[in-house]
Amino acid sequence: MNISLLGSTGSIGTQALEVMSALGLRPKVLAARRSVKSIEEQARRYRPKLVCLEDTGAARSLKTALADTDIRVVGGREGVIEAASFPAADAVLNAMVGMAGLEPALAAVKSRKTLLLANKEALVCGGAILTAAARDTDVPIIPVDSEHSAIFQCLQAGKQGIRKLILTASGGPFRGWNRERLAGVTPEMALKHPNWNMGPKVTIDSALLLNKGLELIEAMWLFGMPPERISVVIHPQSVIHSLVEYEDGAMLAQLGAPDMRVPIQYAITYPSRKPCPGSRLDLVKAGTLTFEAPDMTAFPSLPLAYSAAERGGNAGAVFNAAAETAVGAFLDGKCGFNRIPERIEYALSRYTHIDNPTLQDILETDRFVRGMKGD
Ligand code: MG
Repeated sequence: MNISLLGSTGSIGTQALEVMSALGLRPKVLAARRSVKSIEEQARRYRPKLVCLEDTGAARSLKTALADTDIRVVGGREGVIEAASFPAADAVLNAMVGMAGLEPALAAVKSRKTLLLANKEALVCGGAILTAAARDTDVPIIPVDSEHSAIFQCLQAGKQGIRKLILTASGGPFRGWNRERLAGVTPEMALKHPNWNMGPKVTIDSALLLNKGLELIEAMWLFGMPPERISVVIHPQSVIHSLVEYEDGAMLAQLGAPDMRVPIQYAITYPSRKPCPGSRLDLVKAGTLTFEAPDMTAFPSLPLAYSAAERGGNAGAVFNAAAETAVGAFLDGKCGFNRIPERIEYALSRYTHIDNPTLQDILETDRFVRGMKGD
């Protein structure tokens, strides 16, 4: 498989390169935002045909740095789109962070590349247009997000008679805390996730159950399921990555160590299974598995995501843009922890709803919400 890897220097990107190396695969394309040093090292090691940095200044430095090689260097938004539709690639692993991944995901699907999707925001914001484009070009979207990969793996047993999809959530570091206690959470506290090793945005999202909200909207589009048939259960051990419940009462679950290399690899090798550098699960060591209902009062991001999912259209883009800006403000010390869901709620009360948005509508919705004062 010839893969174009978008977001190669991030947490998923570097784990994807490790998995690909073990499989004997070399990326055809590497793209990242602005890390000249890291992508230069990756380019020298993996020798792709094309590398891209979205930041044009950084792309110029990279071009100088790689002048002694025959690797083409591109930059800017056009460069990312070129990376996503590069002719020599037959699959695009989109591990970009945030709404920025939507247009490259669309470009990949429109140029008939299999889309291996780790960038959940592409579906959260543009689920309607991205899934429609994939239907038009008959291109599969294979999830990399661990919960969605789990459901995708369970669904290999059968797509008929599904009653419910059940997303598991670790509950994050503040499980059991009430609103008052959560008010004192600092970025340092929120950046420590008990089970998963992830980038800063998704770690903060997890601590708020906001990540599960994004994943609910992602699952709705990916599996064509209405939100009322997707539920969330807190499972602190992160051993069961998600489940499918069938009409007859049978439930299928996918289990494993909490290690992103497994879902990354399954997306690449699907439908085959190969040995993986990821950690393995020891059931006896795992011991007891527990489950509880999410606390919708302490963590209002999740019910707000249900509301956005039910509205559909451009509501996902509103939810996401408000979340991205509020989490950014929190990390910069400019916004309290409990203020994050309040800013999402505010945005959802102020936007103009569009049932069948175009890409332009989604981009405008995103700009509108990012421009809000939030008070
Ligand atoms: Mg996930």
